[in-house]
Amino acid sequence: MVSESKPSTANNANKARTPKLPGKPKKEKKPVLLPPHPPETSLELLGWIRRPQLTALGKLGITTLRGLLEHYPRRHEDRKRFDHFPDTECERSYCLSGIVGKTVFRRFGRMRSFEAEIEESAGSVLSARLTLRWFNLFHVQKSVITGSRLIVHGKVRHRGKRLCMEHPEFEVVTEEDRQSIHLDRIVPVHPAGEGISVRVIRGLIHRALIETDWSGWIDPLQHQEADWGTALRNIHFPESLEMLEPARRELALRELLGIQTLVTIRRNEARKPRGAAKSSQGDLLSAFLKALPFALTGAQQKSIAMIREDMARTHRMHRLLQGDVGSGKTVVAAAAMLTAVEAGHRAILMAPTQILAEQHFRNFQHWLEPLDIPVELLTGARKTKSTSNPTTHSETKRSGVVIGTHALLHNAVALQGAGLVVIDEQHKFGVLQRTQLANSPSAPDVLVMTATPIPRTLAQTIYGDLDLSILDEKPPGRGTLRTAARTSEKLPEIIAYLTGQLEKGRQAYVVYPLIEESEKLAAKAAEAEITVWSEHLSPFPCQLLHGRMNAEEKKSVMESFVQGHTKVLITTSVIEVGVDVPNATFLLVENAERFGLAQLHQLRGRIGRGAHISTCVLIEGSGNPEAMERLRILEKSSDGFVIAEEDLRLRGSGDILGTAQSGLPPLRIADLYRDADLISVASREAERILKSDPELAKPHHAPLRQLRVEYALRLATTGG
Ligand code: ADP
Ligand code: MG
Repeated sequence: MVSESKPSTANNANKARTPKLPGKPKKEKKPVLLPPHPPETSLELLGWIRRPQLTALGKLGITTLRGLLEHYPRRHEDRKRFDHFPDTECERSYCLSGIVGKTVFRRFGRMRSFEAEIEESAGSVLSARLTLRWFNLFHVQKSVITGSRLIVHGKVRHRGKRLCMEHPEFEVVTEEDRQSIHLDRIVPVHPAGEGISVRVIRGLIHRALIETDWSGWIDPLQHQEADWGTALRNIHFPESLEMLEPARRELALRELLGIQTLVTIRRNEARKPRGAAKSSQGDLLSAFLKALPFALTGAQQKSIAMIREDMARTHRMHRLLQGDVGSGKTVVAAAAMLTAVEAGHRAILMAPTQILAEQHFRNFQHWLEPLDIPVELLTGARKTKSTSNPTTHSETKRSGVVIGTHALLHNAVALQGAGLVVIDEQHKFGVLQRTQLANSPSAPDVLVMTATPIPRTLAQTIYGDLDLSILDEKPPGRGTLRTAARTSEKLPEIIAYLTGQLEKGRQAYVVYPLIEESEKLAAKAAEAEITVWSEHLSPFPCQLLHGRMNAEEKKSVMESFVQGHTKVLITTSVIEVGVDVPNATFLLVENAERFGLAQLHQLRGRIGRGAHISTCVLIEGSGNPEAMERLRILEKSSDGFVIAEEDLRLRGSGDILGTAQSGLPPLRIADLYRDADLISVASREAERILKSDPELAKPHHAPLRQLRVEYALRLATTGG
């Protein structure tokens, strides 16, 4: 990890460590380094960070100098001038400085609170006051002592007759701090952690900035104005608040450059090795299209043409087919698969859920049986099942179609000799699974499909290694879809409307959210509600469907719904992807505020698939006006891309680049929305760099080289 640990001998006066004593073999010589240090230096080797602090930093994932310096501040406080104590409550947060007066300890039943009065410090004629209050936080009273000077940050609220700040962030400061980094300047507030305070982290970062040597880490963006080290200094300890944004942009650009470099490498690798060219007359395809009860949309035709062109080349296809829910991606997949089959290859379709795999299986059976093409199903639940010829097995048949879930990944036989792999609802799989399929020995062409409309900026990062086809046209003949966001008070009317729909022969979904990411709890909520709904909607049969049911149960429930015996599915987000039952025209989502907008859009894609008018009702359960406001976006827009952009803007992009999905490092400072313009810059730079230095061997590409090493490690440890 650490480069060049110079065997430093003399000149070590400022270090506590003593050189190895002869005759005391137990005390191993610790390498002690003199500053400045290269950025990848392990914090342990610095000698000035205590063991408990090292442990606490380790818990935050910080082990090197660079890691410490990339621990960016959450916010800054201008401690040259503080806010005046407010005289009424206000939405914004205040940063105040004052002297602690009376403190009290109160107890109400099991709850205990600690209160401290704080007075605006000297200089002001009126001595304004404020109460600080903490509940059940006993350690606070140890540091908040009468007479001490406090800096607090938080919102001010009326509590009875008093103005109060509850659970403020606070820091005790002393007069000596005036000579230090904690006062009389713009001060960074970093995320702290267990066993390490904001103040300690600030001190460590300050020293780390002084001791880091960036010269061996020359900036890959040599033409940029600010270098890495300057930008880092300014993001932590800016001299003015105006310096922050330029510094943040500089660092964001470098971060995005790193990401784009990884994406470009991935892109290049995905195209190696070359695969087989699959050209065909297209007889099977024509026969298939002729038998379809509808004509292809222009967008479908265009995508199919692009795909066939890709497949006819020895360069491997690596294409993303992006299209809003209901845009008809399955037919495009079938066309691609027929192209492979006609060229004598096996084509594989992988779906994220068993429900969806079964649905595709039914459709493909229906489409391909007349063409005499064997279709097999391979899910965890059922080993293999084939049609056309019951003795056909993937072991013996070279061409044909195999449909399955992730169980496919563990079936070497099915994958062997595959000429095309289609991954449906790709966002539900990790990039690792995608890579795994793509890496099967036959070097198959890869088509990934996603209904999650991803803003272009994101597509360029997460999916930057793929060529893009977009289905931007909906098949004709769809009924209208209306969306309404309501509170649960409106339920009686909603139920009356739903009953009317059922009487007309329509079907419906009622969806319960995942609570804290637990399908188990969602299942429980849905289970508890089924009796209630069965009663409300009697005599129409309701059934439960959730991810924790076993495969056979799921299958039979779904079949009963498809055939129209079951009228209402009480369910969870298992139906989020792919499910296609055109007769279902009503979707109710409980606690809709718990879902992301893009996910809700996806869910409502289950309806509006037939010619009838469909209705989606989103029940807002938190009573939060902002949540309601957010849901109203779905009332107004039916464009998945607009919604995705809005989602990104509202939630920030932080978690979207989550590692599991993309395999890429999480973004620490760049924001895909605010910094969208930087993505293309970074992308161009990455391409230029890799062209001139494919191995990233040049000295100034060290940061990118390091990133690639970390990325490969992550893939190796989390990958299958
Ligand atoms: P998605 O893109 O969400 O996967 P599907 O492939 O499930 O969409 O298609 C949704 C529905 O639209 C299906 O019932 C499908 O048969 C139908 N469909 C697809 N293409 C067309 C078309 N060109 N004209 C009419 N209906 C179509
Ligand atoms: Mg689909």
